[in-house]
Amino acid sequence: MTKYTPTIGLEIHIELKTKHKMFCECLNDPEEKRPNLNICPICLAHPGVLPKPNKEAMEKVLQLGLALNCHLSDIAKFDRKNYFYPDLPKGYQISQYDKPFCQNGYLEISDIKEGVYQFKKIPIRRIHLEEDTARLIHEGGSSFVDFNRAGIPLAELVTEPEIHSAKEARRFCEELHLIIKYLDIGDADMEKGEMRCEVNISIAANELGDSSKVLGTKVEIKNLNSFRAVEEAIKYEIERQTEMLEKGEKVIQETRGWDEKEKKTTSQRIKEEAHDYRYFPEPDLKPIKTAEVFPLDDLQRAIPELPNDKRLRFLKEYGLKAQEVEELVYEPPMADYFEKVIMELDGLKSTEGKEREERIKLAYNYLSTDLKALMIQNACGVESLKITPHSFATLIDFLDKKMISSAVGKAVLAEVFESGANPEVVIKEKNLLQVFDTAEIDEIAKLVINQNPQAVADFKKGKVNALQFLAGQVMKESKGRFNPQLVQERIKNLLTN
Ligand code: ADP
Ligand code: MG
Ligand code: ZN
Repeated sequence: MTKYTPTIGLEIHIELKTKHKMFCECLNDPEEKRPNLNICPICLAHPGVLPKPNKEAMEKVLQLGLALNCHLSDIAKFDRKNYFYPDLPKGYQISQYDKPFCQNGYLEISDIKEGVYQFKKIPIRRIHLEEDTARLIHEGGSSFVDFNRAGIPLAELVTEPEIHSAKEARRFCEELHLIIKYLDIGDADMEKGEMRCEVNISIAANELGDSSKVLGTKVEIKNLNSFRAVEEAIKYEIERQTEMLEKGEKVIQETRGWDEKEKKTTSQRIKEEAHDYRYFPEPDLKPIKTAEVFPLDDLQRAIPELPNDKRLRFLKEYGLKAQEVEELVYEPPMADYFEKVIMELDGLKSTEGKEREERIKLAYNYLSTDLKALMIQNACGVESLKITPHSFATLIDFLDKKMISSAVGKAVLAEVFESGANPEVVIKEKNLLQVFDTAEIDEIAKLVINQNPQAVADFKKGKVNALQFLAGQVMKESKGRFNPQLVQERIKNLLTN
């Protein structure tokens, strides 16, 4: 029996968010719609000009390297990668060959299996810095070149071929994207081409019992501009190559493009033998003494808590479920707000163990459903919330102590969201405290019973819905103030005695 093992290696380009381009003073503005505005003799490759490396870009690639557990080279060097293409005015790209800024790191991808986080380290071979190419625009039979993008700093990350499924590759791209956002070094919008993934994929065919690690012939896939495309293209390619091998055919080394409409890959070009870029050191740029120019302490200071640290800390400190933690990890401002709420909540009443977990859970639920819904309805971001963490915690405290019903809780939340008022004041002024007084409940319940003979008859025939209906009416009369369990109890009591 033959076992087919897919192997995937990724090459990912990320445009760095800097003020200027990589080797000149032109603005780095990926949003610029007017072509050829952010250009100068340097990024247009006029003869005799000299490149000047952008410190901000170098700092950012080093931060990325640190965040991805890389070894930072003490000395980094720029090299020329020579090839001809109309989007490359110099006829070469300034890139890095044997001394990239970052080497031998790893990114830990995560997955949630049966509610539990699973982590896996994917080794990273290198991250180097280079310049982006111009953009080619094909229109009405002609081609145009827009040099706004030419020279934008580009980090290229290369993984080892140690990814073994489409899902893992997708998770790698998603996690890298998240880390870039946390570091705030790029926008990395794949649809805008600010992050571009190339996938290398091969299938090793091993007879059962043969544990040799020889990889198969790899195929490279380009044009992947979403996480979903990365996953789908790999799935397709694994099937295509496996079928070929099963038929006794040979996979050829080539570059294939992903066709988003047809959901398949098609051959673009067969790779020329020994693709030779004739790399050589960039004579116009001195090697960079990174350790001297960018002290490690300074780099480290700029690195915030990273997603995996947040995941582990949130699990431990707040006792949330992995899936809940995950939602917050993807929304750092919301996660910060949540943490402030919990701090306030702890300040209002000191609890521990299960009791604290229940309070946190209540806060999380109101935050992730009710508050989130209000924010979406009103297109309001965390930064413009009128309800302060203290107010939010106060409301949760009232709910947790059963001083208000959940219906009142939702109404007060909506009001405080709107006005920024103090929920305690709103509750007191509007007299919204939950009512446990059976006499007061009975009074309204009797009224409702008298007005709804049909429901009463249904109840007596054993219809459960009838009780729900009557209880609903009583709750409505009380404007949500009555304790809902008591309401049901009292109605049953009145109807059966
Ligand atoms: P090349 O020299 O052809 O560019 P590299 O060894 O530099 O190849 O690797 C380029 C990318 O391809 C890396 O991301 C690497 O992980 C991946 N890769 C290399 N060999 C294979 C293979 N046999 N199967 C899948 N991916 C591979
Ligand atoms: Mg390569
Ligand atoms: Zn320029």
